[in-house]
Amino acid sequence: MTDAKLIDGKAAADALRGRIAADVAALKQSHGVTPGLAVVLVGEDPASLIYVRSKSKQMTSCGMASFEHRRPESISQADLLTLIDDLNRDDAIHGILVQLPLPAHIDEHFVLNAVAPEKDVDGFHVLNAGRLAAGIGAMAPCTPLGCMALLEEELGDLSGLDAVVVGRSNIVGKPMATLLLHANCTVTIAHSRTRDLRAVCRRADILVAAAGKPELIRGDWIKSGATVIDVGIHRIATESGKSRLVGDVAFAESRAVAGAITPVPGGVGPMTIAMLLGNTLTAARRIAGLLSDT
Ligand code: NAD
Repeated sequence: MTDAKLIDGKAAADALRGRIAADVAALKQSHGVTPGLAVVLVGEDPASLIYVRSKSKQMTSCGMASFEHRRPESISQADLLTLIDDLNRDDAIHGILVQLPLPAHIDEHFVLNAVAPEKDVDGFHVLNAGRLAAGIGAMAPCTPLGCMALLEEELGDLSGLDAVVVGRSNIVGKPMATLLLHANCTVTIAHSRTRDLRAVCRRADILVAAAGKPELIRGDWIKSGATVIDVGIHRIATESGKSRLVGDVAFAESRAVAGAITPVPGGVGPMTIAMLLGNTLTAARRIAGLLSDT
């Protein structure tokens, strides 16, 4: 059997950014609107700093405006809510992203739900979660949206396929399962209490791994010819004392069985940021009254 096709998330993200940049230019010209994203970063977490820089660079390269609001780790919840309230009322801002994690003294759910739902480009507000579940014009979370774009590009119509999502977080697993259901897949959500995860995974035509466990999914858990989307990303130490990035899927042995598979890095990661740009553009269009709500 030949190795699975590699699903190139970087190429897909590049192409998507090109389309978004063209749409941003058209929106500016037709309605004088420049989509703007505000990123709120609390504390000095180095990984978060890198993400925020990367998001900001990509926003500006697509012709959008990016505003960074950095606050110290010691900020009070009340002050953070005041900042979000100001951003909710700022007409130059169409999307607000609160970089996670937040410090322990801040109630993450409370803060995320303070973002105006129409500016919630991460799709974490309960109203957007509910709208997504009901299938009515939600702002959906970026990582599952990116996975769906890769799947649809790879497979076209997903109707009737058996999809297994490993992981049930509000950020990845649950919205991923919902999007697959809306695409007419037969969906199973597996999680840490699932019995015989291997057998569940082996049923999948589409397997989305989002358990946050390095190389959990082995090659012999995968149905021959399945399409595998690996959301996990972990830096692990190698025997030579260096480190490398791996996903939730044991890549080499899974590639020998699957039909198509995303690599880590270069699979889902680049699509997540591209989808954030897409959601910011959508928010700007909605706020300008150019898109209906359903
Ligand atoms: P999370 O920890 O919130 O959720 C993990 C889920 O996996 C839980 O629902 C849990 O029930 C399930 N799980 C844990 N151990 C399991 C096991 N042994 N068997 C089956 N299920 C198990 O994580 P998350 O935020 O959903 O993220 C998942 C992974 O995706 C992480 O590695 C994260 O770094 C990565 N991630 C990547 C991107 C990206 O852009 N590439 C974006 C978000 C998250």
